[in-house]
Amino acid sequence: MPRSSPSSDDSASCDSKPAGSDAGDSLCADLATTRRRYLALTGVGLSATTAGCASTSSDRPTTESEIPEPTDETSDDLETIEDETESDEDDAETDEDDTETDEDEPESIDDLPLFDAHTHVIPTEARGRDPLFAEQLVEWMDTNSVDRAVVLAFDAPEAYPVQAPSGWVLDEVDPYPDRLVPFCTIDPRAVDGTDAAAGRLEHYIDRGARGFGELKIEMDIDDDRLEPLYELCATYELPILFHTDRQMMRDEVGLPRLENVLASYPEVDFVAHAHGWWSHMAADVEPLDLGRIPEGPIEAPGRVWELLAEYDNIYGDISTLGGWNALTRDEAYGQAFLESHHDQLVFGTDYLFPGHQIPHFALFEQFDLELDAWANIRHRNTENLLR
Ligand SMILES: [Zn+2]
Repeated sequence: MPRSSPSSDDSASCDSKPAGSDAGDSLCADLATTRRRYLALTGVGLSATTAGCASTSSDRPTTESEIPEPTDETSDDLETIEDETESDEDDAETDEDDTETDEDEPESIDDLPLFDAHTHVIPTEARGRDPLFAEQLVEWMDTNSVDRAVVLAFDAPEAYPVQAPSGWVLDEVDPYPDRLVPFCTIDPRAVDGTDAAAGRLEHYIDRGARGFGELKIEMDIDDDRLEPLYELCATYELPILFHTDRQMMRDEVGLPRLENVLASYPEVDFVAHAHGWWSHMAADVEPLDLGRIPEGPIEAPGRVWELLAEYDNIYGDISTLGGWNALTRDEAYGQAFLESHHDQLVFGTDYLFPGHQIPHFALFEQFDLELDAWANIRHRNTENLLR
């Protein structure tokens, strides 16, 4: 959830650094360095005034063999495309099926739909930014050739002053059923028991909610109080998009708490977002990295690669500064990562306020993938999450 930076909600930790902690200053200095690169691309003026600091990379040697080999899933995925295309054309004359399928085959990346898995609407001015209503969000989507977008809610008080109550989000996106897909959230501290939570969740589902998020609460990610919500999301087949850093949905280096959750709720699809997840793009992670954007070349692939390989119920949301940096801090690793894990990555921006500049569209030019892999990232994975 967006807290305060004019450029990205990933900067939340800068504005809410731990009181009395030197770590907060170091954290903000690191973030400012990465933000310069990010803003150089976005063309937005630099708001942070803190100086950059040293890279956190280790001295471990790099070997070619440590870079995972890209997997080749082209043939399987092509079959899926043909299946879907044919099923869309049930009414067509049999003799014309092949011809029409060929004509509909995407020839370039621009022919592929684009589904943004991480956007917001915000009802009030907050931290000097204008509100963002659904009408403006759709206008921005039109300008940037975004076909559909997941719109996330915030119900926990930690989000203040950036609030987006689920009921309001559902009302706001209601006129755009073909473009906007609302998610909802419930603060487990604000409901009296699992039955009450279930009742509220059913109410939101009846009103159109298709997923749960953005889950961003000051708790450990495996806190007992979250278990009823995880169970309900399993029951109602809702994917959960969560934000993890040093304060929200907390974990430790190596993400053992997240792994515990993934193993405990294999029927729930989780979509990971923000520093705590993306810092584990590399193997060398320090506790402070859970709240900042590690810089520099990757020495060896980290837990993100392993968890994606070991669990089919975890996805990576490439939105905002954390996701963008994870892919671009070391382009060779970024390329290998996209090739090997495109079936568990979703395109997202975290578009948060009118005029918010988003560099992620350039990633389609920056990296070279098969069209089928781009199709997974651009729309297919998100569509599959919405059961
Ligand atoms: Zn967000």
